[in-house]
Amino acid sequence: MHASHSLRLILAATGICILFSASRIMAQDMPSAFAITLEMQGVRFASHQAATPQNAQQEIKLKQQVILQKDGQFRTISESVWPGNIRFHFLTTGNKDGAAAVDLLQWRQGIEIERETAAEARNEYADLLFLSPTLLLELGSMHMPIDLPGAENKNYQQVNFNDAAGSPASMIIERSSGQVLSAKTAASTYEYADYGSTKNFRQPRQITVKDGGRLVLQWKISAAVAEHVDAHSFALPATYIEKQDKGALRATMIAPGTYRVDGSESGYHTAFSVGTHSVAIYDAPVSAAEAAKVRALIEQTAPGRKLAYLVLSHSHRDHIAGAPSYIQDGLHILAGKDGRLAIERQLGKAVASKVQEVTSVFDIDLGGRSIRIYPIASSHASDMLVAYDKSTQTLFQGDLFYLPEIGPIPPVFDVGLELDSLITQHQLQVQQLVGVHGRSGSFTEFKKALELRMTEKPSAEKN
Ligand SMILES: [Zn+2]
Repeated sequence: MHASHSLRLILAATGICILFSASRIMAQDMPSAFAITLEMQGVRFASHQAATPQNAQQEIKLKQQVILQKDGQFRTISESVWPGNIRFHFLTTGNKDGAAAVDLLQWRQGIEIERETAAEARNEYADLLFLSPTLLLELGSMHMPIDLPGAENKNYQQVNFNDAAGSPASMIIERSSGQVLSAKTAASTYEYADYGSTKNFRQPRQITVKDGGRLVLQWKISAAVAEHVDAHSFALPATYIEKQDKGALRATMIAPGTYRVDGSESGYHTAFSVGTHSVAIYDAPVSAAEAAKVRALIEQTAPGRKLAYLVLSHSHRDHIAGAPSYIQDGLHILAGKDGRLAIERQLGKAVASKVQEVTSVFDIDLGGRSIRIYPIASSHASDMLVAYDKSTQTLFQGDLFYLPEIGPIPPVFDVGLELDSLITQHQLQVQQLVGVHGRSGSFTEFKKALELRMTEKPSAEKN
């Protein structure tokens, strides 16, 4: 999402602003309160987040409600269900001056508000407009349709225009119906099908989104209503607070010889254990650039020790993308069953050649400190590894148990029960659970999260 935003900014900066201002004037002439609401259900084809290393893609079920107002005001409420029944439920609201997103389940982002700049908000609004070709047509209506070459294209015309954020875009219109069949931005192609109309507002009931030819999204739209929306619909719920400063990048000692990295740009936490001769590092989020900074911090914190083990909790992209920054002679990358496959697919042969798959309980020796690695065929990722330091009773895990940085303890997802049975099965004494996302938790907090699931029964998808 951020990548496409910066691309848009570059495109906007390169010019073609004359057309942009023409369409802006058009938009301002329309009554600003006019809004549409889309009720959407769909599937996202997510890369490098699959439940098993064999699969490069995972189908993620989505639900979304979008309100678009012509003056640039918007609101989305989106829900998605990931392997392990991990659910995201976010509300984003914005206008031309900025946007804000909150986590309605309060687990990933807790009670903190994620703010977007005016430029980011305008880009998000511009992208959302591609879900409503009728509104797009109005944006493009200042521009002359162009005939397409070739007799087979005589029924279609192309309109080149600038989207609501000023980036170049185009659409193909069917002459006979005047309907938009497809639209194209620098990043994506939208295909529209099965038009219907509500209160004279025409809306395709199916939208397919492709990025560079790859199918990424399929939407079914059950309702599109043109309406007036009350201003308070765009307000944030009151229980959220401004995002707190997480401080500079640093290694926080959480037990003797045991550290968690705080203050990373992504907000992800790498952790590491230090022995007399070696270091074990838990996960390598989220990019080679971020991991290079974390590696420097680890070397500074544990001078003279060999970086001997990189333990990957599972082979999802966000947890392993930094692995290339740790590659050196003598490094062992520990991954779960078949993890090498997913690692090679994402990071190439050089990284994959360092991988040792852990398929049964395995001890690593750091010198005066032994770490036990447990493989667990999790429903989130079948190649899951959990690490445990008996000497400090610290457990290291990724994506099985979450606490937000700031906010109350949320109920666990299915994967929390999987972690609980691992702890029970091996009778692990746990004082502290360190996660890649969010704050670390005590065993009491973990128990509380398990209890909350029992009592609250959150609206987890049944099937
Ligand atoms: Zn994951």
